[in-house]
Amino acid sequence: MSAHVALVGAGPGDPGLLTVRGRELLVAADAVVYDRLGTERLMGLCRPDARLVDAGKAPGRAALTQEEIGRTLVDLAGEGLRVVRLKGGDPFVFGRGGEEILALADAGIPVEVVPGVTSAIAAPAYAGIPITHRAVSTSFTVVTGHEDPTKPGEQTDWDALARVPGTLVVLMGMGRLPQITERLIAAGRDPGQPAAAVQWGTTHRQRHVVATLATLHEVARARGIGSPAVVVIGDVAGLSDRLAWRPPQVLAGRTVVVTRARAQASQLSEALRAHGADVIEMPVIRIEPLPADDAIGAMLDRLREYRALVLTSVNGAEQLFARMAERGMDARAIHPDARIVAIGPATARALEERGLRVDTMPERHVAEGILEALEGDDLAGVPVLVARAQTARALLVDALRGRGAQVDEVALYRTVPEPVPPDQIDRAVAADYVTFTSSSTVTNFVAAMGDRLQRMRGCVVSIGPITSETLADAHIPVDSEAEVFTIPGVCEAVVEHARRDQ
Ligand code: SAH
Repeated sequence: MSAHVALVGAGPGDPGLLTVRGRELLVAADAVVYDRLGTERLMGLCRPDARLVDAGKAPGRAALTQEEIGRTLVDLAGEGLRVVRLKGGDPFVFGRGGEEILALADAGIPVEVVPGVTSAIAAPAYAGIPITHRAVSTSFTVVTGHEDPTKPGEQTDWDALARVPGTLVVLMGMGRLPQITERLIAAGRDPGQPAAAVQWGTTHRQRHVVATLATLHEVARARGIGSPAVVVIGDVAGLSDRLAWRPPQVLAGRTVVVTRARAQASQLSEALRAHGADVIEMPVIRIEPLPADDAIGAMLDRLREYRALVLTSVNGAEQLFARMAERGMDARAIHPDARIVAIGPATARALEERGLRVDTMPERHVAEGILEALEGDDLAGVPVLVARAQTARALLVDALRGRGAQVDEVALYRTVPEPVPPDQIDRAVAADYVTFTSSSTVTNFVAAMGDRLQRMRGCVVSIGPITSETLADAHIPVDSEAEVFTIPGVCEAVVEHARRDQ
């Protein structure tokens, strides 16, 4: 694909509503110029080395002007880059996409347009409001509400709109909602007609209200519903109660802190967001491979001798294979009869992705569980590799040695503190839940919070007994502990707690 600019509609916010073509272009892009609304959860798809330009933020100012955006696109394409211009919803629905294409056309740059799912239709749909409905509404009109309807010379013909019998959808209308609704009523629209406002439609923060044309403004204000929202005026808004299809989200309106390393946070964050949580990723640790030393070298030399390989984390599995790869080795370097032991499903998956079928996975995903799972085995004289983090509990290795195994314990990585910016600390203090997925997240969280720790008011959720013990040592009471010691288990623990708390 040669240098060109693609104008891509991001959809309204639910990442599942990005088109297939949009995704294809986004993951391959060298540079992405993005608006914030609707794109938040798509930025993770961009290549880590892609150049990202926030069109909502100019140096020292609020936003890039339209002219500056056009110039940025032309410059990036001029460098021979594949550029995606990512815009919320559909790029041509009040998106000024046309102006950007003109700027590119003037510079002779080839353009592709990928339409998006517009909030005008999707936000009502996610609130159970069909934009048309047989015998209720046979047309819809989408207007912008950002101009003052009482201002002379206003371009929107509100009088005419008041008379069109179908559904009227107003984007950017929350700021002038009282003027708009009054104007429509003055022009003859029925004040008792159902009307709704859907804020943050399709996202985990979605909220909506249904009232009448006359009362929508008051009701929305009372319920704290403001921009960005789609306003729907018409009888279809009255169907919302009966057609609502989205299950209520138990974590809606709750903030949850994820303290895992940045590279590993997304699985937990996504699971929490799927239940409506507002997730704050606050990585307090980072995984750092240890420099190759004699122990690692000796382990690789005798890799084929081990008759059991024990991996107690995804990081351990990944690091083992990374070290092997540096020497040109892969799964074939391991003894074909070696027993492969993984502490839990994520570690097992990491091994299986690398061609190693896992023989043993304990029911309880802790070191004690591994020992229980190996209980019937004769380990006397058996060479065993335990590949793990620099600081790990001695229990597993001691117990294996106690049963006569010849254990090589090799540290492949360590967790180091990740600096936490002050605003993250403020957000963690105010959050509803803070999750801990390992003892090292606890220790480093405590260090990062300092004396702010006492002010924290959220519930504390732990992945399992070892992490809970570390929390207890730090005098942090645990509100909920996962039943299954995995990342999905942590999410479940938060959800269960929130259900009880409702
Ligand atoms: N091109 C976009 C609209 C841009 S104008 C589209 O097709 O959706 C910005 C306005 O769109 C906001 O003021 C709001 O009225 C609406 N909007 C965009 N995303 C929204 C969302 N997720 N929920 C509710 N309204 C949204």
